[in-house]
Amino acid sequence: MRIGIVGLGVVGLATGVVLAEQGHKIIGVDIDQNKVKGLECKRSPIYEPGLQEMLERYFHNFTFTTDYGLLSDTDLVFITVSTPTIDGKIYLGYVFDAAKRLGDVLKRNDTIVVIKSTVVPGTARKVKEIVKNDVVSNPEFLREGRAILDTKNPDRIVIGSENKEPGDLVENLWKFTNAPVIRTTWEEAEMIKYAANSFLAVKISFINEIANVCEKLKDCDVTVVAKAIGMDKRISPYFLNAGIGWGGSCFPKDTQAIVSFARDLGEELKIVEAAIKVNNERINRVISMLKGFIKEGNVCVLGVAFKPNTDDTRESVAIKLIKTLKSEGYKVVAYDPKAKADEAEMVGLDECIRIADAVIIATEWDEFKGLEEKLRGKFVIDGRRILDPSKMEKGKFKAIGLGE
Ligand code: NAD
Repeated sequence: MRIGIVGLGVVGLATGVVLAEQGHKIIGVDIDQNKVKGLECKRSPIYEPGLQEMLERYFHNFTFTTDYGLLSDTDLVFITVSTPTIDGKIYLGYVFDAAKRLGDVLKRNDTIVVIKSTVVPGTARKVKEIVKNDVVSNPEFLREGRAILDTKNPDRIVIGSENKEPGDLVENLWKFTNAPVIRTTWEEAEMIKYAANSFLAVKISFINEIANVCEKLKDCDVTVVAKAIGMDKRISPYFLNAGIGWGGSCFPKDTQAIVSFARDLGEELKIVEAAIKVNNERINRVISMLKGFIKEGNVCVLGVAFKPNTDDTRESVAIKLIKTLKSEGYKVVAYDPKAKADEAEMVGLDECIRIADAVIIATEWDEFKGLEEKLRGKFVIDGRRILDPSKMEKGKFKAIGLGE
């Protein structure tokens, strides 16, 4: 098929390379000229495992452009543009702009417009009014750092459509993944995405609150508690890692968006609101742990990406931590294997530890596992629970959810 992809971020590129591997011809459109120029030279604008290699391998199936006109004769176009939350509400301007431009250029009335961006319920209905062609809602559940693996092996595929045939076409497109398919209405598909992200955010905030209590107890470690409760199939072991909080390009904006969307409908999402509140308090807990060690001096923050295996720092808790540390008067240096932050001086790993009076692990990169020996002599706070407490110096080590 000739497939258009509008918006060449993580989701657009992961979708693009995976479908290019299946032999489809991909026309990737973005309004960001620099991004398109780089992609034309086979340069991925982001770090995502396997992305650069797949881009090079299947480059013959790609056209990258800023010109919507090249989408005029496509079988299907994915909308994968950003949907930020601005002033607490979802901003759908990019989606509607893409829809309007598609409406202007699509020549065939059987080109299906597929919304992959995360959008509040009712959006597909509005996009249909703009483009006139059939619209399918096909929300994306990939995790950054595993974007390609997840696109190839999703847990499920959700297809929301008004009519059966367009949904069938999208279902066929993803058949190679062998994932279970849930056919829904537009609104259900849109709601599923928010319900999923909100639930995951709640799960992490839940274990973070349990961690707070564990910290007050003698001989109590939240990782042991999480492991045991996670063995209960009704709970599952995933998203039960206590830490300095969730960040990234999705959870913060999506939880806020659904809370305000619900409020406009006269409903309060009290549990999701509580999860956001708990999350916002995480950094202050780390700061008070640090103050228990040192009130001033050099702090090395290990990790600035919002999670491992990505260079994405959007809404990264590590960056917020750096800003707070600086406002509290600490001098901050940071190291990350892939990501950069303007907020702190970025140095090499050894240098970061050498300069530091205290080290805070803010992102759970594999590279930081097994650092116990190297960290000797420093005050250490394990914000992501990747160090072995039994190998750390007594009186110089604290960790989220680890009691005295
Ligand atoms: P991104 O911000 O990395 O990329 C979006 C791209 O869209 C940018 O390159 C931007 O220049 C482009 N764009 C904006 N307006 C445009 C327009 N009118 N025409 C063409 N291009 C335009 O976004 P992302 O992280 O890939 O996320 C895209 C969507 O998918 C969002 O709705 C997000 O919530 C959702 N999503 C993201 C993830 C994730 O892990 N990042 C996972 C699932 C779902």
